[in-house]
Amino acid sequence: MNEPRSAWRTFVTRAVDVLYPRRCVACGRFGPLLCVPCEARMQPATGAGRCPNCSARWGAALNCPRCLGWQALDGVSAAFEMEGAARRLVHGLKYRRVRELAPVMAAHMVKLPAVRPFDVAFAVPLHPSRLRDRGFNQAEMLLRELGWPAAPGTLRRVRKTRTQVGQAVRERRANVSGAFAYEGPPLDGLTVAVVDDVVTTGATAEACAEELRAAGARSVVAIGFARASYDPASSAPPRD
Ligand SMILES: [Zn+2]
Ligand SMILES: [Zn+2]
Repeated sequence: MNEPRSAWRTFVTRAVDVLYPRRCVACGRFGPLLCVPCEARMQPATGAGRCPNCSARWGAALNCPRCLGWQALDGVSAAFEMEGAARRLVHGLKYRRVRELAPVMAAHMVKLPAVRPFDVAFAVPLHPSRLRDRGFNQAEMLLRELGWPAAPGTLRRVRKTRTQVGQAVRERRANVSGAFAYEGPPLDGLTVAVVDDVVTTGATAEACAEELRAAGARSVVAIGFARASYDPASSAPPRD
């Protein structure tokens, strides 16, 4: 019964492949969406030279000044530094809307050792108007691919915020503070992860964490595909 339809689908898929062959999002060579050499050059955001608590570039063994200011967020895990091919993947999914990149990115995130174990995960929500414009929430797509246990309630973005790109650390905090609301049963005693494509200052994750802690969460960590490091001593706003 399904035979003609699946044959037709296969035909359409092949025709699309011929008309629009796949290319690596980082270097443009024909083949997979992320070619092996570009993948090998991505800079892991784990290991030596990183803050043990938030994965940002940091030379010392103790927590860095970037994460010392968080009140509600316990830490950040991320797969790669936000540069090179990792940046192209993030932008490819979010701005060029290449949805097929979500499983490529999630395959790296799922292997990450979380800074702390967690029971349930939330995707960082978009405001409904931005969701309408973009057509999808990239964080939700990543979480779906990750297959981590969904949280019992819903985290919503209840206030529209400006883009964080180009904003200084303090502006980012003010921009997202109180922007999220949790609706659902109490999260009493649960350890929670919030998933996003990029973590820069952690301001967004901190604002989510405040709300989730108020709902009873015992700890909140952020898990991102990319970690955008910035110099906490510089007055220049973080790039991402
Ligand atoms: Zn490539
Ligand atoms: Zn840190």
